[in-house]
Amino acid sequence: MAKKFDKDELKKLTEELLVNRRNGFFQMEDETVKKADEFCEDYKAFLNLSKTEREVVVYALKAAEKAGFVPFDPEKKYKAGDKVYYNNRGKALILAVIGRNGCKNGVRIAAAHIDSPRLDLKPHPLYEKDDMAFFKSHYYGGIKKYQWTAIPLAMHGLVVRKDGVSVEIRIGEEEGEPQFCVTDLLPHLSSEQMEKKLSKAIEAENLNIVFGSRPVRADEGENLVKLNVMRLIHEKYGMTEEDFVSADIEFVPAFKAVDVGFDRSMIGAYGHDDRVCAYPALLAALHTETPENTILTVLADKEEIGSDGNTGLNSQFMRYFISDMAQAEGLESRHVLSKSKCLSTDVTAAFDPNYADVYEPNNSCYINNGVGMAKYTGSRGKNGSSEATAELVSEIRNIFDKNNVLWQIGEMGRVDAGGGGTVALYIANLNVDVLDVGVPVLSMHSPFEVVSKLDVYMTYKGIKAFYEAK
Ligand code: MN
Ligand code: MN
Repeated sequence: MAKKFDKDELKKLTEELLVNRRNGFFQMEDETVKKADEFCEDYKAFLNLSKTEREVVVYALKAAEKAGFVPFDPEKKYKAGDKVYYNNRGKALILAVIGRNGCKNGVRIAAAHIDSPRLDLKPHPLYEKDDMAFFKSHYYGGIKKYQWTAIPLAMHGLVVRKDGVSVEIRIGEEEGEPQFCVTDLLPHLSSEQMEKKLSKAIEAENLNIVFGSRPVRADEGENLVKLNVMRLIHEKYGMTEEDFVSADIEFVPAFKAVDVGFDRSMIGAYGHDDRVCAYPALLAALHTETPENTILTVLADKEEIGSDGNTGLNSQFMRYFISDMAQAEGLESRHVLSKSKCLSTDVTAAFDPNYADVYEPNNSCYINNGVGMAKYTGSRGKNGSSEATAELVSEIRNIFDKNNVLWQIGEMGRVDAGGGGTVALYIANLNVDVLDVGVPVLSMHSPFEVVSKLDVYMTYKGIKAFYEAK
C-alpha cells in the first residue's frame, strides 16, 4: 500500500516539491516592506521630474555625477571601481562601474528604456479652426487612442530655434501653470461614435490638442487666435511658428505620481513603462562599488517604436561603448560580448482579474509577487523574441534566491492573445546571454499605469544582486 501522509508530512512534502505562489507580501518581513515604501517615495519624485527620455537623462546624469561618475574617455585606462558614463545625444545613457576583472569575463548589463507612449507634435503643428487653436499631434508608441482624450496634458520638450539657441519647454506641471487637452464628444451626441469599434472611435487625426481660444484684438485678419497664442509662445520662448520644425515636443499626462489604495501598496503614474525598471537600474549602478565584472546600466530610447534609430538599442551605440572598453584593456569586443550577460529590464503585464480571459493564470505575473522574469516574449509562437537559456535562468534565479529577491516568472498573456517585445533580442543578437526581468504593470501604456511598491523594490534588489554576483 502507498504511504499515507499525515498533516505535517504533507505540509513538508508540499513545501519541498511545489512552487509557493502565495501573495509575496507573506514572504516578506515588515522591515522589507518599509524599505520598499521608502524606496518608492524617491521613485515617485523621480517620475514627477522625468516624464520624457531627455528628462530621465538629465536626472540620471545629475545623480551619477554626484556619485562620482565622469564622462567616458576611450583613450583612457580605467581601474577597478572607476565610474564612467556615455551620454548619447541627451536621449540615452550608459553608466559603467569598472570591475575587478574589467571586462575580461564579459560585462553585466541591465538595459531599460526611458521613452514612453505619448503624443508628439507634427512638424507644422499649429492651426486654427472655428476660433479655436490646436496642435496637430502624431502619437508615439502603442496607445489606445480613446484613453488620451479628456485628460490634462503637459507640454515637454526642446526647441532649437533658427538662431541656434536651444530652449527647453516644460509647462503644465507646476501648480498654477496652464495645461492642455484633447477634447472628446459628449455622450448626448455620441450615438454614432458609440457604435464604432474601440480602435476607430477616436481617429489619430482627431488627437488635436487645444491650446487657445482668444484672438488678437483687430478689425480684420485671419487666424487671429493662432496668432495671439503664437505671440504668447514667442514672448515666453523667443520662438516663431517655423521653429516647431526643429523641435522634439511631447505631450504627456499632467498628473503626478500618487499612491493607489487605502493601504498605499501601489503607485499610479504616467510612464512606469519603463521608468519603473530604469530607476532601479540607475540606482543599482549608483550603489555598486567595485563589482567583480564591469557593470553597465543602459537607459535607451525608442523602445516603444521598435528600438530603431541611433538612440535605440537596435543601433550600435552600446556595442561601440563596450568595444572601446574592451580595446582599452587589450581585448576584442566580440570576445567580451560573447561572455556578457544582460538583464533586459522591462515591464511585463500584471494579471488583471477584470480581464482574466486574456491571461493564463498559471503563467502570469501578479502584483506583489516580486520582480517578474520572462524566459521569452514575442507573439504567434515566440516570434520576435530571444529566449533565455535554461542555464541563464538557473543562474539568475539562484542569484535572486541567495539575495532574498522575491521573483516570479510568467508570460505576457494567454498564447495568441497578442504579445510584445523588449530590447532583449537586440542585445542577444550581439551573442550576449539575455533574460527579461521587470515590474508587472496594470493598465500598461495607459496614461495612468499602476505598479506594486514591493515589486519596484524587488527589481532594484534583483539588479543590484546581479551586478554584485561573483
Ligand atoms: Mn517597455
Ligand atoms: Mn511599452
